[in-house]
Amino acid sequence: MTLAKSAVEAYVGLGSNLEDSVDHVNRARQEIAALPGVVEIAFSPLYRSLPVGPQDQPDYVNAVLRISTELEPLVLLRELQQIENQHGRLRNVRWGARTLDLDVLLYAQQSINEPDLVVPHPELSKRAFVLYPLADVASSDLQIPGLDSLSQLLAACPPDGLRKITV
Ligand code: ATP
Ligand code: CA
Ligand code: CA
Repeated sequence: MTLAKSAVEAYVGLGSNLEDSVDHVNRARQEIAALPGVVEIAFSPLYRSLPVGPQDQPDYVNAVLRISTELEPLVLLRELQQIENQHGRLRNVRWGARTLDLDVLLYAQQSINEPDLVVPHPELSKRAFVLYPLADVASSDLQIPGLDSLSQLLAACPPDGLRKITV
């Protein structure tokens, strides 16, 4: 697919800790890449991570997808939420277990502060399960708007029980 000149790069964080998490994440990657106005650039390896928030839930599978997209940020968010819903995502407990979580981590070099969308993702700099897969698909001199370069954020964030999944 050829993208118009208005295409920008964005990064999507994928997570799952219910049912077959590896399958949820792999299928979501394909579904995002198949969206009209989205082209995949790179997909990170899958990682296993410890849950944030309530600890009485399974470990997570995480990955980061780098895309080129013509979709406006809020349109992209809505498309991602629709994919979450198709995966049976329920929204009850904050940071509770879920079949699929899709977060907009970065959208071009934009800082977005809307009621439904904050970009860069506000927790990005604290989360090893975001920063390490992000580094697999992005240049280490990537600048995170309002923060440091990716390599500086990584240096301040130990990998804390994060494990690359080997098949
Ligand atoms: P966290 O955002 O800390 O990772 P979470 O992913 O569990 O927590 P959700 O319940 O999936 O949070 O989403 C809650 C709301 O966050 C969504 O309804 C969405 O509107 C909003 N939101 C704000 N910024 C973003 C973003 N960058 N990506 C995805 N959702 C976002
Ligand atoms: Ca999340
Ligand atoms: Ca989310």
